[in-house]
Amino acid sequence: MFDSLSDRLGGVFDKLRGRGALKEQDVRDAMREVRIALLEADVALPVVRRFVDQVTEKAVGQDVLRSVTPGQQVIKIVNDALIETLGGDTTPELDLNATPPIVIMMVGLQGSGKTTSTAKIAKLLKEKHGKKAMMASLDVNRPAAQEQLKVLGEQVGVATLPIIAGQQPTEIATRALQSAKLQAVDVLLLDTAGRLHVDQQLMDEMKAVSAISTPREVLLVVDSLTGQDAVNVAQSFAGQVDLTGVVLTRMDGDARGGAALSMRAVTGKPIKFAGTGEKLDAIEVFQPARVANRILGMGDIVSLVEKAAETVKLEDAEALAKRMEQGKFDMNDLRMQLKQMQSMGGLGALAGMMPGMKKAKAAMAASGMDERVLLRMDAIIGSMTVKERVNPALLNAKRKIRVAKGSGTQVQDVNKLLKMHQEMGKAMKQIKKMGGLKGLAAMFGK
Ligand code: GDP
Repeated sequence: MFDSLSDRLGGVFDKLRGRGALKEQDVRDAMREVRIALLEADVALPVVRRFVDQVTEKAVGQDVLRSVTPGQQVIKIVNDALIETLGGDTTPELDLNATPPIVIMMVGLQGSGKTTSTAKIAKLLKEKHGKKAMMASLDVNRPAAQEQLKVLGEQVGVATLPIIAGQQPTEIATRALQSAKLQAVDVLLLDTAGRLHVDQQLMDEMKAVSAISTPREVLLVVDSLTGQDAVNVAQSFAGQVDLTGVVLTRMDGDARGGAALSMRAVTGKPIKFAGTGEKLDAIEVFQPARVANRILGMGDIVSLVEKAAETVKLEDAEALAKRMEQGKFDMNDLRMQLKQMQSMGGLGALAGMMPGMKKAKAAMAASGMDERVLLRMDAIIGSMTVKERVNPALLNAKRKIRVAKGSGTQVQDVNKLLKMHQEMGKAMKQIKKMGGLKGLAAMFGK
């Protein structure tokens, strides 16, 4: 997610971070590059202007430039501005405080991911909120649309309104409401018809359905890959119906982030959910602070910590954090990490969330790492002597052959492991440079 934007900004801030002192001109130069990076990311021009102006004004202040860590402070200012642009510090929740059945109306253009998102949200409501949900497709234009929702409903275990051929959208909406009341449904999701373009007929239909069902939430689904177009679509919809939020789909493939960064400012509507894949659990509540952290290449520290908290013993984690900060990350630590990674859903899932892990992740991908590789790496470390584990530099060619034999692997596997350990060590040093894990946390006010 947002890889190209993240790389560009990372380059700018590496330069800032590397300097002990900053002059006003340094900040202005950096901000020029930030401006270009945002424009290349397809962020709307007025949003870019406001962003750069705000950040520059704060960052050239004497209290920043004269501080001990000017680079970090500038990055913090950028981080805060990103959070604000993405929608602010709060997480937009669905408004479920009403007498059931609460209606959520899903609107959007064809192919935006509307039907998929409807099923994803129904699944969330059922599993995370313990709500009894029901879905109904009002799409009478696309022949297979109602059938598609029914199939998705079966997959996520949420009821769909039985299909009656020939009914109009308003008739279906009325029937859905009655049915929801009868069956004591908490939340009714109405998947309205899509169109290829925004047109008046579509808008009229939406208004009619809205008048009948008085939705608590009207969520517009747009495809983040369409960049500024997504924002334009949102603007046209917002002018016609009272949107309560946006679902931004295909964020998994969005390297640029222009739609996410422009949406709030241009439409005034919060992004409530992010679609992150084709699978029906690939949806996230959109949290601006987390997304900002990802864009700045800091990794999704909060997600990582939360995930770790589910599986890792606190004492272990504290001991490890301490060793990382002291730069004493050895093979025993790596082994412990590997075990934890296994229990946390594998390497890919994890590396993407860790700060500074992009390179290590690339190295892992290049070596075709999978779960079996985790076990093999464990075997390799198991074949090292106690001394070698603490000091991997001891591993000369002869020792590597011994370790490879002992673990039933090849010397090149041993080398790969050593390389990975090195990359992780480097990542840890980077964290240390930023003031250690505590410094990092403080920087983001977490
Ligand atoms: P609709 O016409 O707006 O109802 O669109 P669909 O829900 O049928 O989705 C169109 C295609 O986009 C399907 O193949 C979905 O699997 C895919 N899709 C939907 N959301 C996402 C997402 O967040 N990420 C990815 N990668 N694919 C998605």
